[in-house]
Amino acid sequence: MDKALVVLSGGLDSTTLLYMAVKQLGAENVKAISFNYGQRHWKELRFAGHSCGDFGIPRKLVDISFLKVLFQNSGSSLVTEEDVPEGHYAEDTMKSTVVPNRNMIMASIAAGYAISENIDSLWLGVHAGDHFVYPDCRPRFFNVLNAAICIGNDSFGPIGEVIPGAELQRFVHTPFINISKADIAIEALRLGVPLEGTWSCYKGDTVHCGKCGTCVERLEAINEAIHYHDGYGRHYVDGTAYADTEFWKEAVKTA
Ligand SMILES: [Zn+2]
Repeated sequence: MDKALVVLSGGLDSTTLLYMAVKQLGAENVKAISFNYGQRHWKELRFAGHSCGDFGIPRKLVDISFLKVLFQNSGSSLVTEEDVPEGHYAEDTMKSTVVPNRNMIMASIAAGYAISENIDSLWLGVHAGDHFVYPDCRPRFFNVLNAAICIGNDSFGPIGEVIPGAELQRFVHTPFINISKADIAIEALRLGVPLEGTWSCYKGDTVHCGKCGTCVERLEAINEAIHYHDGYGRHYVDGTAYADTEFWKEAVKTA
């Protein structure tokens, strides 16, 4: 693996992934791609742009906002006018944040772009905590996706020859797929990711709301990571501003 294309949303997970790719391969070997899929706000995409700017990494912003019209009957609160649910991800209400076939669509476009740029790996920041709500964040999905991309691009660009029966190359990289959001936050602090330079909130207000699913998940993970590092005598502070800093504690208890 020499080069990486990182799918970057601007959230904690994908920004940590970007830092990891830069550390492993050097900024000159990393590119990023972000998607505007008709989400309610542009905030995290702007944060993604800033993170790339810090490293001088080129970033492609791909507009797939037509999905919003195409998927208007999906019931997904992320692309429709429905209210974004508050609370913990373990709750049933979070199913309304599923966008049909989202990772397949984004990974397909990103893979095509990577191959056309002769980039030999595609990095995605999915993690174990996503498995419960999102079927297209599970290991089985990415194994099959990796196989489909390699077989579908046999001997083309950076994809080597696909020999029947032999193990396929690992084009799709999901280093966080079996670790928790808290483990990613621990990694983020270790890599020096500025937490306030990432955006997780599903709502697009001035500051993080502290109550939506991603805010609750983020606060729980960051607090666990800070406690982890405290044990080693390193004290980190989350510089992110939140409208509510207490709600998540109750949401985590009742989940
Ligand atoms: Zn929020």
